Amino acid sequence: MAKVSINLATGSLQKEEIIVGIDLGTTNSLVAFINPDKNPQVINDAGKGVLVPSVVHFGQTGEVTVGNDAKNYLITDPQNTIFSVKRLLGRSYHDIENYKDFFSYKVIDDNTESLVKINVGDKFYTPIDLSALILKELKERAEHALKTPVNRAVITVPAYFNDSQRQATRDAGKLAGLDVLRIVNEPTAASLAYGIGLNPEETKTIAVYDLGGGTFDVSILQIQNGIFEVLATNGDTFLGGDDFDRLIVDYWIEKNNLDKAELANNRELSQQLRLKAEEAKKAFAHQSLVNDKIGDIWCTLDRNTFNELILPKVQQTITCCQNALRDAKLTVDQIDEVVMVGGSTRTALVKKMVFEFFGRKVHDEVNPDEVVALGAAIQADIMAGNRKDILLLDVTPLSLGIETMGGLMDVIIPRNAKVPTKAGRQYTTSVDGQVNMKIAVYQGERDLVKENRKLAEFNLKGIPAMPAGFPKIDINFLLNADGILKVQAIELRSGVKQEIEVKPTYGITDDQVEQMLMDSITHAKDDVSQRMVIEARTEGEQMIYTVERFLQKHGSSVTQEETAATHQYVEALKAALATDDKDLIHKKIDELNELTRPFAERLMDQAISHAMKGKSIE
Ligand code: ADP
Ligand code: MG
Repeated sequence: MAKVSINLATGSLQKEEIIVGIDLGTTNSLVAFINPDKNPQVINDAGKGVLVPSVVHFGQTGEVTVGNDAKNYLITDPQNTIFSVKRLLGRSYHDIENYKDFFSYKVIDDNTESLVKINVGDKFYTPIDLSALILKELKERAEHALKTPVNRAVITVPAYFNDSQRQATRDAGKLAGLDVLRIVNEPTAASLAYGIGLNPEETKTIAVYDLGGGTFDVSILQIQNGIFEVLATNGDTFLGGDDFDRLIVDYWIEKNNLDKAELANNRELSQQLRLKAEEAKKAFAHQSLVNDKIGDIWCTLDRNTFNELILPKVQQTITCCQNALRDAKLTVDQIDEVVMVGGSTRTALVKKMVFEFFGRKVHDEVNPDEVVALGAAIQADIMAGNRKDILLLDVTPLSLGIETMGGLMDVIIPRNAKVPTKAGRQYTTSVDGQVNMKIAVYQGERDLVKENRKLAEFNLKGIPAMPAGFPKIDINFLLNADGILKVQAIELRSGVKQEIEVKPTYGITDDQVEQMLMDSITHAKDDVSQRMVIEARTEGEQMIYTVERFLQKHGSSVTQEETAATHQYVEALKAALATDDKDLIHKKIDELNELTRPFAERLMDQAISHAMKGKSIE
């Protein structure tokens, strides 16, 4: 057994241990590792093949088969053969209701809001259990091929997977006996396999086109400072290479005048036709005509006809690409790299249309079925500490808040808060007649926003002019399960409202989070004292503002001596504000307060007293 030591200070691995990269696919799964030559390599255990069909079969006597052997039961024993389990991971019955007929096995749940279960015979399995069986198969194959225990893995998921789906993937890994070091987005992994993102200096915009067996995803990524950010995702969860096969079968049914209903009852023949269709589709890579027979059924197809059959489907994927670009607010010429992923991108028409749409050569040098797993292996290598690169993170472990006066961070959602979560606070204006309020959203643990990470900024406009401290501005943070933060600002007296959405988890790396947390501990003492100075200064500035306003408005009701003394005390406070001495500032505030209280008490109207109590943003 390989020994591993862990550096307790950093929590990172000290010694090299094989960490595998796993592409847990809807149709096919596979596992890869970094070989002794430092190159990513897919695992082909005992010549069983690299791809493990993501299919699980339960036999009558309880035996479980995974992969190719299980795939053979898809047609002959559909109730006991689970395919496409990835579609159910982390999903509730409510989520999948609309396409439950897609599954030939029994998907159930009593409570529509909780996660689905699958009923096989008299047993119930969760999608996590089933995915774990696939992962276990991959783990065993890797152990067998590499002749060493494999306990750690990086697993990929689609970029659009939400927290629940990501967590389910982690749980499946755990159940399979794997410590899941990182969940990585599939398009990120694919880019890594092409070496994109490994140079921290480069800034690039990448389109990842992933056409698999039953799903199509396009992701627009931006890589900057070694950080991947997902700008947009689009796709069709029911569009893939299986559709091409189906179209071919339908074509043969028509050409041979077969009865579709009759054929549906003949499972064996249906299966044969489907396999033949897939074979034909693949053959077009090197030949232009397929001429075959199943019994007395002619299975003839030429490449041009095939292209005509699939054209509408491919066109659909291009529309998704257009939508993704639109959402990312980019044009095709702003895309620097196009990466092809998924077995179906081997189809020549797909390649041609993607090339034409983006107007540039696409990356297809790496085997498209393997590219995600290979990238996951590179990420695993990074996790093992063998590379210094930094990568996309899947959770937000940092506090979220806004900037208040003096550049201080006011935390609204503290770190480690459970998602979804909601929190809010009320603010007011600091200046009379203030009609705009800048709301700057930050992430981080430091007391000063400038030490934290800015996520967004917007202006709440159209606040009716009121004395300082009068407006009531509610700021609400809503962090949903997908990690999207909605920030809403509403002025309660007028109903003026504005909101934005940001995704705090995008574009930040584990290393950065770790660094930010470390920094907050290291600087805690300094931060606190700085915060105290800033708070004192803010209070002082607020005080001066209020007093000067008061003199302007009500100067006539104050004696000349009082006015002169006030100016003198204000100057003294101003001088104190220029220092970092919070005690001095407080002292001067108190003195000014003492001096002005009598006449302020005489006259100070509600507005001003309100302003002094209110917490202000600007
Ligand atoms: P997923 O990511 O959904 O698990 P894959 O990336 O493994 O799926 O893609 C599987 C699909 O790729 C299947 O529909 C398969 O028929 C198709 N495919 C594999 N090889 C070829 C090929 N040479 N030409 C066309 N399609 C292919
Ligand atoms: Mg895939």
